[in-house]
Amino acid sequence: MRALTLVADRKLELIDAPDPPAPGAGEVQARVKAVALNHIDVWGYRGMAFAKRKMPLVVGAEASGEIAAVGPGVSNFKPGDRVVMYGALTCGTCKACTQGRDNLCENVQGIMGFHIDGFARDLVNMHARLVIPVPANVSFRDAACAPIAFSTVEHMLFDNAKLEPGETILVQAGGSGIGTVAIKMAKALGCTVITTVGDDAKAEKAKALGADHVINYKTERFETITRKLTAKKGVDVVFEHTGAETFPGSLLVLKRGGRLVTCGATSGPTVTFNLMQLFQQQYKIFGSFGASMRNIRDSLTKMAGGMLPVIDTEVPLADFEQGLARLESRQVFGKIVVTF
Ligand SMILES: [Zn+2]
Repeated sequence: MRALTLVADRKLELIDAPDPPAPGAGEVQARVKAVALNHIDVWGYRGMAFAKRKMPLVVGAEASGEIAAVGPGVSNFKPGDRVVMYGALTCGTCKACTQGRDNLCENVQGIMGFHIDGFARDLVNMHARLVIPVPANVSFRDAACAPIAFSTVEHMLFDNAKLEPGETILVQAGGSGIGTVAIKMAKALGCTVITTVGDDAKAEKAKALGADHVINYKTERFETITRKLTAKKGVDVVFEHTGAETFPGSLLVLKRGGRLVTCGATSGPTVTFNLMQLFQQQYKIFGSFGASMRNIRDSLTKMAGGMLPVIDTEVPLADFEQGLARLESRQVFGKIVVTF
């Protein structure tokens, strides 16, 4: 089978690898159909000093596929079933896992495609517990955006920030994969959405997605505009993932008692902020990473109901690296999906 492997920092090789063995007890074998790219792929590709991993490493963290075979004891899947795969190898037995909160697993073996072999290969064996069925009317391409992009946003907005109808939210980097999802989910809930983008073409696209106010952060200060738009009150929730460049400003535009939820630091991981501001304004800051199994099922249900991911580009496996370059250069609007 084909497998796209990271052999050194910033060096990918498409190799001919042996097929995996027949699935063991409790496992399924999936034929990968699509892999969606995320910033974690860029981090993995660049290399990270603290990440424990062995190379060569099969890349790809977020994927959809079709069941090719099932192992002994698996009764809930059969060959031909369309599925998505959870993006981390969790234990299934700790308290968090048994409660369906796999992203808090106490014995996680790693993130697929980052710490351990991922999905950019033709065949993969997975524990059936980490595989979720895809509704009939959702394509492999769109479904591939459920296990990380859609479900991360679902977890951030609803489990952590507890976003409510009628609230105002600032979505940072509204043109990114998760930014586009956050705009759609917040609008579907009945929120007022303010978002930031880096150019005027993206501003038009963000408006078309339903954003009420779009700020080009390269030409205007988002802090000033957001305060103006909210009559100096500030927003209820900020959806953060850009980190260093925006985080202090994101705190500044929260209303008293507001919630900031973050899942990323694409512009840098270190910030300073005023603790007086934090407690006097009674801000709540949520770190969010990954998602629960329920978040993925809910994401697929939303897709089946017509809330589809915004696809920036679709590329073949051989062009995975160009996809990463496009993501890294922030030229994207929506998701990049590698199709098999
Ligand atoms: Zn666990």
